[in-house]
Amino acid sequence: MNVNDTEIAWSILQRTGYQRTADINKADVVLLVTCSIREKAEQTIRNRLQQLTALKKRRSSSSSTPMKVGILGCMAGRLKTELLQQEKLLDVLAGPDSYRDLPRLLREAQGGQRASSLLLSLEETYADIMPVQQVPRARSAFVSIMRGCDNMCSYCIVPFTRGRERSRPVSSILEEVQMLSNQGVKEVTLLGQNVNSYRDLSEQQFSGGGSSSQQQQQQQQQQQQLSRGFQTIYRPRLGGLRFCHLLDRVSRIDPDMRIRFTSPHPKDFPDEVLHLISERHNICRQIHLPAQSGSTRVLKAMRRGYTRETYLDLVTNIKTIIPGVSLSSDFISGFCGETEDDHQETLSLIQEVGYNIGFLFAYSMRKKTQAFHRLQDDVPPDVKQRRLQDCIALFRQEAARLNATLVGSTQLVLVEGVSKRSAAELCGRSDGNMKVIFPKGDEAFQPGDYVQVEILSSSSQSLRGRAVIRGSLRDSVPP
Ligand code: SAH
Ligand code: SF4
Repeated sequence: MNVNDTEIAWSILQRTGYQRTADINKADVVLLVTCSIREKAEQTIRNRLQQLTALKKRRSSSSSTPMKVGILGCMAGRLKTELLQQEKLLDVLAGPDSYRDLPRLLREAQGGQRASSLLLSLEETYADIMPVQQVPRARSAFVSIMRGCDNMCSYCIVPFTRGRERSRPVSSILEEVQMLSNQGVKEVTLLGQNVNSYRDLSEQQFSGGGSSSQQQQQQQQQQQQLSRGFQTIYRPRLGGLRFCHLLDRVSRIDPDMRIRFTSPHPKDFPDEVLHLISERHNICRQIHLPAQSGSTRVLKAMRRGYTRETYLDLVTNIKTIIPGVSLSSDFISGFCGETEDDHQETLSLIQEVGYNIGFLFAYSMRKKTQAFHRLQDDVPPDVKQRRLQDCIALFRQEAARLNATLVGSTQLVLVEGVSKRSAAELCGRSDGNMKVIFPKGDEAFQPGDYVQVEILSSSSQSLRGRAVIRGSLRDSVPP
């Protein structure tokens, strides 16, 4: 999400004549794009700010152009003037919906004022801003399709820092993906806080009505739009063009372009989305399915809107409709009131599902959230850490087991570039999003090429193999 925010902010600044430098000593403006989701992320920014403050002081004594420092994104929105009071050398604050204001804010800062713009918006999706890619001519790109979140999980600050859920119109997303395809991009990841809750309300699929039979019909429709067996505890939304429609349209643009999406919510996987993923050759058979906990009791306290059983039923449904699917997940260890039994349930869920990739966190209490107001952050830090380490160890073990089952198979790999460890090897990703490393060999494979790679060995984090033949996404056959 922050990569995409950086690209949007940079696109806005570039239009007003700013140039990028890789040398911080030459920069007249330094902007930090920030995240507030956990305390640790904010601490990293605080440390960085200290270094920048020292640099700024040095610069002001030795150069005629003073350096301006700004904070962009969630941390600006969360801490607001508190941040300006604490960080005396900070010049600019811009919240996640204020990047269009950046040129004005910087002008004010150049004039010697401290400038901020922090209001959240109900509409801003930056639909008309074409992000400038961080790596020129990169073969993979992120495309933001929605912003914000209405779900209010009890531990989460996102609804407060990034505001209400809003989706970008289908037409502007298709335009961006087409442009990326024209530039030779081979992989697009659709991006959003709850990417599969996407709903373009600027276009209606059916008209809303007031009669009770219409209301009943709408309720039924809404139920069909959720994952099987899921009840939503969140405010229902109706009408508009939904994620399945968008995924269908995006994946038709370029048959040589892989489509992924992140981060979805488990409640928004109706069967039609799963069937589309299964049938469309260029939508990757890989689903991120954040569980957060394996205990129904903890899930309830988290306000996730599902139980352990409904989550596991969804996993079974996904595995049935999309054979060979790769699953990844997010988990939080040590949430308020989590007991040793709850933790054991999380471990057993991790084992039962079998994920290739995991993002695991210790619970970090955030102000403003429901958990902050109503629950006790009562799991001691050392216990949180121990439980987190248990989860990480089990994840590694399970990922290693799953990856080992791929040895002997042939995977279609999209080449990303030369391997970091050896110039004689190339690195890329399989359809299931696993890193695959293989010797360059005689064929001059380039980033953006598809290569069939026979897998010869594996670890918990990557696969190794040898190139068999140049491949194509069009002739990839689902398992
Ligand atoms: N919308 C997605 C997740 C986006 S936030 C979903 O609902 O699944 C990314 C991840 O950060 C979450 O899945 C969660 O695991 C983690 N996270 C969010 N708030 C947290 C907190 N207060 N402490 C620790 N981890 C947190
Ligand atoms: Fe946070 Fe929950 Fe929204 Fe995900 S769904 S961003 S965890 S509030």
